[in-house]
Amino acid sequence: MEKKNLDWANLGFGYMPTDYRYVANYRDGKWDKGALITDDKIVMSECAGVLQYAQTVFEGMKAYETVDGRTVVFRPDLNAERLVNSAKRLEIPPISPEQFLDGVRQVVKADEAWVPPYGTGASLYIRPYMFGISPVIGVKPAEDYQFRILTTPVGPYFKGGAKPIKITISDYDRAAPHGTGNIKAGLNYAMSLEAIVEAHQNGFNENMYLDSATRTKVEETGGANFVFFTKDGTMVTPKSDTILPSVTRRSLEYVAEKYLGMKVEERVVYKEELDDFVEAGVCGTAAVICPIGLINDHGREIRIPSGMDEMGPNTKKLYDTLRGIQLGTIEAPEGWIFEIK
Ligand SMILES: *Cc1c(COP(=O)(O)O)cnc(C)c1O
Repeated sequence: MEKKNLDWANLGFGYMPTDYRYVANYRDGKWDKGALITDDKIVMSECAGVLQYAQTVFEGMKAYETVDGRTVVFRPDLNAERLVNSAKRLEIPPISPEQFLDGVRQVVKADEAWVPPYGTGASLYIRPYMFGISPVIGVKPAEDYQFRILTTPVGPYFKGGAKPIKITISDYDRAAPHGTGNIKAGLNYAMSLEAIVEAHQNGFNENMYLDSATRTKVEETGGANFVFFTKDGTMVTPKSDTILPSVTRRSLEYVAEKYLGMKVEERVVYKEELDDFVEAGVCGTAAVICPIGLINDHGREIRIPSGMDEMGPNTKKLYDTLRGIQLGTIEAPEGWIFEIK
């Protein structure tokens, strides 16, 4: 496989069109069988459901090369399943997990020259998404939908080591009880933009959102779940119906317990407990885990004991183990690695 001539190690996280994308259309009440196309433009009605009422959901995954030269995707079956749940909540006819996985396989195979070589730390980001494409003016679900999978090469998340980030407890809410916080939808991101721009202006990398009903419980950031470690080495992750069930977080919990013999607790985490944790991080497909060094609670600084220079030891163990599983240097649990052939 002749790879594209890109400066892999210095890619950022921006969109760069690749050769192929997968497209399927929902018309007359059913999904067609889908195909690869080269056109990166979409032509649709000015009144399309997605443009007027934000009827769209998405997923995010990565394809990368393993140590032995295979092109793989990490647990895409869980993304397929989550996209079904997201679609249903917005009255979008779900795409079957079989078609989702077939689309992923086809498009990654077709764009394999864009999958960064092993060792560069870069990967091919995969963005499946679906949206109402037919015109809607009165508020109701669209009639027709499109499902697409685009790919774009992205650079290593950590250039020159994993630097701990600073986060701030937000006064904005991310998700209401019984709302849409547990689905992966653009609408959850649109309304987080003002909050993240403000956080950045104030010198923080991310927001920590609390539960909107009581503002006492830790939920997640705009786009990643939290992991914490207690003094006795227990991994703790917030349990809530209004956070997105991160594939990375669920995988880390398994790895912590089954590979590293750690105690794992998924439970309600109160803001008051933040002072007691010795390590903290955010987790998601983008970085696996990014360590947190400081949490700002309205001017009061909570300094995480692992500090601002590097990952804490437990976080690092988790990170190294999951990365090893992904890259093929550590044996993966059955079914975790989806090979593109
Ligand atoms: C995508 C996302 C995550 C991370 O999920 P992964 O499946 O681990 O990539 C966490 N929170 C939110 C709100 C997200 O949209």
